[in-house]
Amino acid sequence: SARRREAQSRHTQVLEAADVKYRRDLRTARGAIDYLKGRGLSGQIAARYGLGWAGSDRHGLASIFPDYDKPDFAALLVESGLVIQSEDGRRYDRFRERVMFPIRNARGHLVGFGGRVLGKGEPKYLNSPETPVFSKGSELYGLWEARQAIRNAGQVVVVEGYMDVVALAQMGVENAVATLGTATTTQHVQKLLRAADQIVFSFDGDAAGRRAAWRALQSCLPLLRDDIAIHFLFLPAEHDPDSYVREHGADAFREAMREAPSLSRFMLDEWARQHDLAQPEGRARCVHDAQPLMQAMPKIALRLQVQRELAGMVRLTPEELDTLLALEDEPSG
Ligand code: ATP
Ligand code: MN
Ligand code: MN
Ligand code: MN
Repeated sequence: SARRREAQSRHTQVLEAADVKYRRDLRTARGAIDYLKGRGLSGQIAARYGLGWAGSDRHGLASIFPDYDKPDFAALLVESGLVIQSEDGRRYDRFRERVMFPIRNARGHLVGFGGRVLGKGEPKYLNSPETPVFSKGSELYGLWEARQAIRNAGQVVVVEGYMDVVALAQMGVENAVATLGTATTTQHVQKLLRAADQIVFSFDGDAAGRRAAWRALQSCLPLLRDDIAIHFLFLPAEHDPDSYVREHGADAFREAMREAPSLSRFMLDEWARQHDLAQPEGRARCVHDAQPLMQAMPKIALRLQVQRELAGMVRLTPEELDTLLALEDEPSG
């Protein structure tokens, strides 16, 4: 709508101006440059992703915005998430002493930032808040920067972190994007499928990563089609894509992607892992837990394939399982 475009352009203007400052300030920020170099990043990759530096000044942005103190403009800066207003009315820059990762939407408009502390410090990452132009549940970091590589590969790799995206690009895997510290939503999957018909989710090799993968799977189910391919790559525990690709190289990462289990394999294996299929109760519980996921899938060939394998696992005939799933399809009461 016109109102939305208007909000977008006002926000884009202040975000772009801040971005220019952050990028300029990185050039002379020795500590930040050493930090990024220490993480294996070249100046070229830092420039491609527009990395910047927010210094320690609590009013650093006042130096680039002449209207910083004018009420209307001050309110815009607060609404954009660049400036925080405390309860006593005092205002200060949200991002200080952080490496800045600009976040662009699918059209290339700047919509927010992520900022990482150098070394230790809490919180490790700080993101822009939800604003009229920024919603973490639908934006993907790196989608704009990776668009050409995604199109060329017909594939998009989804990782957890900003640094995973940038480190993969540094090593030549240029088709990666990241969720923004939130669970993968159906809106994310919609955006991903608009960009490519193959998705490889690669979450961290820890328990949190496995849970995140399971959540991502659930967000995929309603959008499944027989002409798309979704895979789940699990890295060795304690690794994330950044550490893995730096230790083992891009070819090893690509090899691991080729061997990554498909969505249906992951789903069936996870059901088997979560239940004691040696016991009737375990097999029954498995059907119970599988039911809402089966129902979330459109009626495509893959659903029938999964149903057939599930029937074997829970020692029912496909007809018996179909009856059970169909029975519970009906609204109760
Ligand atoms: P690094 O390699 O820089 O230590 P990471 O990306 O591996 O960071 P993780 O702890 O794996 O960090 O977190 C993955 C993602 O989750 C981050 O990139 C960020 O988007 C988000 N995140 C992590 N910690 C926080 C936090 N404290 N607050 C908000 N978001 C966070
Ligand atoms: Mn992790
Ligand atoms: Mn990580
Ligand atoms: Mn990491």
